[in-house]
Amino acid sequence: MTHPAVGALPRTTPIILPIASLEQHGGHLPLFTDSLLVTEVARRAEAALGDRALFAPVLWLGSSDHHLAFSGTLSASPRTYLDMLAGLIDSVVRHGFQRVLLLNGHGGNTVPCQQALAEARGRHPRAPNLLLATPYWALGARPEKLDPRIRQTGMGHACEWETSMMLRVAPQLVGDHQNAPPVALEDDPFAPAARAWNTEERSAPGHVGDPRDADAEKGEVLLGAFTDDVVRFIGRMSAWNGATWSTTQR
Ligand SMILES: [Zn+2]
Repeated sequence: MTHPAVGALPRTTPIILPIASLEQHGGHLPLFTDSLLVTEVARRAEAALGDRALFAPVLWLGSSDHHLAFSGTLSASPRTYLDMLAGLIDSVVRHGFQRVLLLNGHGGNTVPCQQALAEARGRHPRAPNLLLATPYWALGARPEKLDPRIRQTGMGHACEWETSMMLRVAPQLVGDHQNAPPVALEDDPFAPAARAWNTEERSAPGHVGDPRDADAEKGEVLLGAFTDDVVRFIGRMSAWNGATWSTTQR
């Protein structure tokens, strides 16, 4: 798009900023997995919504210091990443747009997203801005209910879910996942406390979850469920009255 084309949009248009990573995804998935997958979800949502929302290209550089023990990972340090998110949000707010969503495709970005939103609200306390962030898989989808062959009930890393979606989106980039050893998703005896970790402590091969029986059919179910959630969520952004915290408030 050109700047006049963006300038002509209603300022109530939801602005969707996909963010992801370039980081190791086990021995069987490419480094660009998160960026490819959130781009696919955004592409499908954009096709469904047309000009009811504006989608930016993916910000592929993410907060991935915890994956740096594995070759190829590129990371912005946490504080640099916060500044990058601040730049994205402030740019959009400066243009007068009032509804912003960081559509996140990488778990390591989740905490920085929350911090960046809190700081942005502090910088823009009076503007009627709706500043939001969510991972695309965290909006309520229960893919295992849609396809009983799906065994995972939450997102891992280069796991059944991500490997299946990659087999749907770019099978030529998927390596030998059938022989990848399963790595338990939930095995932290200190949960639910926050616990510092680097990936190599949890997984020698780099993935977390069980990618062995991933397939493209599951991948389509997952991508469909996540896209439906994102489309519905953007609908809620559009339906916001632009003034009050809740929709029942006057
Ligand atoms: Zn990933």
